[in-house]
Amino acid sequence: MSSSQVMVVGAGPTGMLLAAELARRNVTMRLLEKRDRPAEHSRALGVVPRTMEMFEQLGLIDELLTHGHRVHGIRIYGKERRLLVDLDLRNLPTRYPFMLLLPQTRTEAILRHFLEELEVKIEWGTELTTFRPEKSGIRAEFVQAGRSQEAFCGYLAGCDGAHSTVRKKAGLEFPGSAYQQNWLLADVSLEPRLDPRFMHLFTCPSGPIIFFPLPENVWRIVAMRPGTVQDAGQASLEEIAELLERNQLGHLRPHRPLWVAGFAIHHRRTKQLRQGRVFLCGDAAHIHSPAGGQGMNTGLGDAFNLGWKLAAAAKGTSTEALLDSYEEERLPVIEGVLELTDRMTRMMTAASGPAVWIREWAMPFASKLGMAKRMGERLSQLQVGYPQSPAVLPDARRKLAMIPVGSRIGPMVLKNHNTGRETYLAELLSRGRLVLVLFPEGKSRTDKLRQVLAQAGQVDWHWVLRSGQTSEKIREGDGVWVDGDGVVRNALGDPDHASWALLRPDGILMARGEVCETALLNEFLNRLFGGSGEGSEGSGP
Ligand SMILES: Cc1cc2nc3c(=O)[nH]c(=O)nc-3n(C[C@H](O)[C@H](O)[C@H](O)COP(=O)(O)OP(=O)(O)OC[C@H]3O[C@@H](n4cnc5c(N)ncnc54)[C@H](O)[C@@H]3O)c2cc1C
Repeated sequence: MSSSQVMVVGAGPTGMLLAAELARRNVTMRLLEKRDRPAEHSRALGVVPRTMEMFEQLGLIDELLTHGHRVHGIRIYGKERRLLVDLDLRNLPTRYPFMLLLPQTRTEAILRHFLEELEVKIEWGTELTTFRPEKSGIRAEFVQAGRSQEAFCGYLAGCDGAHSTVRKKAGLEFPGSAYQQNWLLADVSLEPRLDPRFMHLFTCPSGPIIFFPLPENVWRIVAMRPGTVQDAGQASLEEIAELLERNQLGHLRPHRPLWVAGFAIHHRRTKQLRQGRVFLCGDAAHIHSPAGGQGMNTGLGDAFNLGWKLAAAAKGTSTEALLDSYEEERLPVIEGVLELTDRMTRMMTAASGPAVWIREWAMPFASKLGMAKRMGERLSQLQVGYPQSPAVLPDARRKLAMIPVGSRIGPMVLKNHNTGRETYLAELLSRGRLVLVLFPEGKSRTDKLRQVLAQAGQVDWHWVLRSGQTSEKIREGDGVWVDGDGVVRNALGDPDHASWALLRPDGILMARGEVCETALLNEFLNRLFGGSGEGSEGSGP
């Protein structure tokens, strides 16, 4: 019977990203997929800024941007085509202040290619049927090429979509409900075209009709079907054209359909993301309305959060507390996404009553008073952070300009001390390890800090100097950077003292402190990685 450290079930976007995160850290793993080949149709379209930042860290951003279509935001129109909300993402604090519209099949192809580079094989036509927890791992049963087989793994990750076998066999419920309405989608050519720099949402008498510009002059139309439909999956171009006609949008003529389908939507989530050695990620743990394009992005966020933690656990270089933090951090995020998408769906689908009044009259005002900006920030997922998590060390002495511990670090530029090359701070995380950014002052003694950090496995060290500053203690292999205007130091460190900031591989500020104070850090790392602070360097995360 074969044995691996982790078995990932499902090669959708979530499973592939998780597998890549494990493979990057040399974890032995199997990736099972019940389909025989990649999916042909694209469900998700929208890649949000936070996901683009993740792809940047993985070195995949150029490929993503090359194939995607950038939109500034979404325009929402009310009665008589009056512009109600202009949700513009252009001022978001990121290198990617836009929504990237890219068929999910393309995002999946980029991840598949990445897996090939990492020499991870997707086992197509392989369906997990059940599993049994044992003392030191999981015994999984699956069917491959018509034959039942068994394999042993240390951990099992269910990334197997809304109908997850892993979730069901773990006995975890999936509470929630279905929305009443049915929906249509069509990928078509459109004449005349709408402004392709935006997504356009028309609130119509029959329900919302949304137009998404895709690469190569394709438009996706998503529309609510009036009434209830017996077979939600059936749909035709004629039905879409007729719906447009009936809602005074008949001048927009769809033709050359690439895909037309009907679908129903649900909102459900599990109350747990972990049960012993079994984890759930992506649609296996949460499904919701596609309003706001959050589904795939949230699943990718799950995988990015879990990957480095599971790798450390698989190699025996972390404690249960680090693994527990996956659920503690992601459940509130998932809850927030369900609440946001539900509110958006109800507001946009309301046909009568106070919700219509709010949409037509209150929303335009609120939008100008900052609601559109706040909504854009939430949809971008840039605000996702874990300040309450046990996997970050609270910082009681934070000054106003500093990024709070538990937040994403955001785009900041550094200059290489030797070459003068400029780079974004996020690039320092591309190796997938913890990163210690040190801001020295005078003769900073770092021996104790190095000793304490050793328990967290290999930590990459980067020294960030002021212009003209030198330092004696820099070791061979450490990065040395110049922070000319002090932006990085003011945001992450302490401008007045020799200080440090510890960054997690998923781009979150994990802890900060002064170089001379290491007791709290020692205790914190001991809790997550189980070392003593006196030991030699390990190999994870
Ligand atoms: C119409 C529509 C539009 C959407 N638009 C957006 C959008 O714009 N933006 C966005 O972020 N999200 C969107 N979504 C949601 C998005 O498509 C999903 O959230 C995303 O596909 C989830 O990825 P996943 O990898 O978790 O699951 P899936 O993509 O469902 O992948 C799960 C995989 O597991 C495999 N599998 C299942 N059971 C087993 C088993 N027992 N053994 C082995 N393999 C198994 C399946 O074959 C599948 O390949 C949309 C969804 C719909 C329906």
